[in-house]
Amino acid sequence: MRKILRLTGLLSVLLLPNILVAQQPPALPALKQEAAAEVDGLQTLTQQMVDEIFSFSELGFQEFETSRYVTGLLEKNGFQVERGVAGIPTAWVATYGSGKPVIAFITDIDCIPRASQKPGVAYHAPMIDGAPGHGEGHNSGMAVNVTAALVLKKLMDKHHLAGTIRLLPGVAEEILGSKAFYVRAGLFKDADIVLGAHVSHQFSTTYATGEGNFSGLVSVQYFFHGKAAHAGARPWEGRSALDAVSLMNAGWEFRREHLRLQQRSHYIILNGGDQPNVVPSEAAVWYYFRELDYPHIKELYELGNTMAQAATMMTSTTVDHRLVGSAWPPFYNKIIAETQQKNIEAVGMPKWTDADQALAKGLQKEIGTKVEGMKEKVEPLSEPNKNPAGGGSDDVGDISWNVPMVYLMYPANIPNLPGHSWANGVSMATPIAHKGSTAGAKVQAMTALDFLLQPELVKQAWDYFRNVQTKEVHYETFLSADDRPAIEMNKEKMEQFAPQLKKFYYDPTRYKTYLEQLGIQYPTVKTQP
Ligand SMILES: [Zn+2]
Repeated sequence: MRKILRLTGLLSVLLLPNILVAQQPPALPALKQEAAAEVDGLQTLTQQMVDEIFSFSELGFQEFETSRYVTGLLEKNGFQVERGVAGIPTAWVATYGSGKPVIAFITDIDCIPRASQKPGVAYHAPMIDGAPGHGEGHNSGMAVNVTAALVLKKLMDKHHLAGTIRLLPGVAEEILGSKAFYVRAGLFKDADIVLGAHVSHQFSTTYATGEGNFSGLVSVQYFFHGKAAHAGARPWEGRSALDAVSLMNAGWEFRREHLRLQQRSHYIILNGGDQPNVVPSEAAVWYYFRELDYPHIKELYELGNTMAQAATMMTSTTVDHRLVGSAWPPFYNKIIAETQQKNIEAVGMPKWTDADQALAKGLQKEIGTKVEGMKEKVEPLSEPNKNPAGGGSDDVGDISWNVPMVYLMYPANIPNLPGHSWANGVSMATPIAHKGSTAGAKVQAMTALDFLLQPELVKQAWDYFRNVQTKEVHYETFLSADDRPAIEMNKEKMEQFAPQLKKFYYDPTRYKTYLEQLGIQYPTVKTQP
C-alpha cells in the first residue's frame, strides 16, 4: 500500500509539469496551424455538405431540408440549436462554448429560381427543367462555416479555450428577407465579432464599403384592387388593377431619368390578371429600390409609394403595399479585415488541376466571356472605393451596422460569370467548390482564433466600429413594427418541384461524390466541331 502511495506521489510529481503545460494553450501561430490541419482532416465532410446542400436546391424561406440537415449535423457534434428564430421557420441559431468573446458565423443557404444545372457540365444542362438551383453557390457556405466551427470546437475542448461560437443561416438572402428581422429579434445583441462567408471566384476580404459595388435596398410589393366586369360587354363597369400597375411602371420609367445616377430600380409584374375578358380586379407589381444610403433608399421608397397612389387616382383603384425585404449597404470592419487578410495570404489559393481549369475555360468559352480559367492568386486588401457606384445588395448589411463584421469571399466558383444563373451553378458540386470551401474554412477558423485569443483585437474592432463606422451614421431599420418576414414566399414553387428534386438528393452513404452519383464525367466540356 505504502509502495503504491509512494508511486502515485512520484507519478504526480512527474506529471505535474505536464499538466501545467497542458493547461496553457499553444501559441497562436501553432494553434492556427493545428486548425488548418484539422480542416484538411475534414475534407470529406466538407465535400459532402457542399454536395448535399447543392442537391436540396431550396428557394428562400423554404430551406427546410437544408436546415434540418445542417442543424442535425451540428447537434450531433454537441452544438445547442434553437430553431424557428425571428419568426422564420427555416432560421436557427447553433451555439457552442460559453462566455466571451461571442463569435458569430453567418452564410446564406437559399438558391435561385430556374437555375437548375448539372454540376461539372460546361454548358446549359438543367437537372430538372425550370427547377430552382444553386446558381449563386450558396450551397457551399455552410460547408465553410460548419467545418470551421467543428474544428474550433475541437480546439476549444482540447486547449480549454474560453468563448462562444455561434452559427446562423442566411435565410432567403436572394430576396433580402431575413437579416433585418434577425437584428430586430436581437440575435446579435451579445455578439462581439461576426464572420460572414460568401462564395466567390476570388479569395479576398474588404473593409468599409469595399469596392463600392454594393447598394442597400427595400423590396416592396404593391397590390392594386379594382373592380371586375365583362371586358367586352360592360367594360365601363370595371376598374382595372392592371391599368394601375402599367401606369405606375410608366410613371417610374419617366421619373428614372431624373433620379440620382447611384439609384438602381427594377420590377416584375407579380399578377397581371387572370384572362383578357375579365377586367382584372387584382394586380400586383414587385419593386426593388436600390441606393447607397438609408436616406436615399427611404426617398426612393417614398417616391414608389407616391407613384402607386398616383396610379390609383388615374384608374379609380386602391393600393396597399408590403415590404418583403430590406438591406442596408454593407460596411465592413477594418481591424477584422486586416486580420483576416493575413490568414487568406497564409492559406493561399487552392491548387487547381487541369480538369478544374478545363471546366472553367470551357464554361467561359461557352457563355462568351473572357477565357482565363481559375484565379491563381489571392487578392490584396484593397483600399475602399471613395466613389461607390452601387450594384447588388446583401442583407448582411444590417448586421454589419450592428456588430463589427467582415465578409470572407472564398474561391469556390469560376471567374467572369453572369451571377444568378445556371452558369454559376456549374462548378458548385465539383472539386472547385470542395477545395474552395476547405480553403475558406481554414480562414474562418484561423480568424476566429485570432479574436478568441486576443481580447485586445476585439476591443480594437469595436473602437473602429464606434469611432469610425458609426461616428455619424446610425442604424435605423426599414421595418415598421408590423412588418413580418414573408415566410410564405416560394412555397408553391418549391412544392411543385420537391417531388422531382427528391429523386436527385445526394446519398453520401452510397456515392463518394455527387458527380459520381449523377454519373457525370468531370469535366464535361463541349468538344470542338
Ligand atoms: Zn449570395
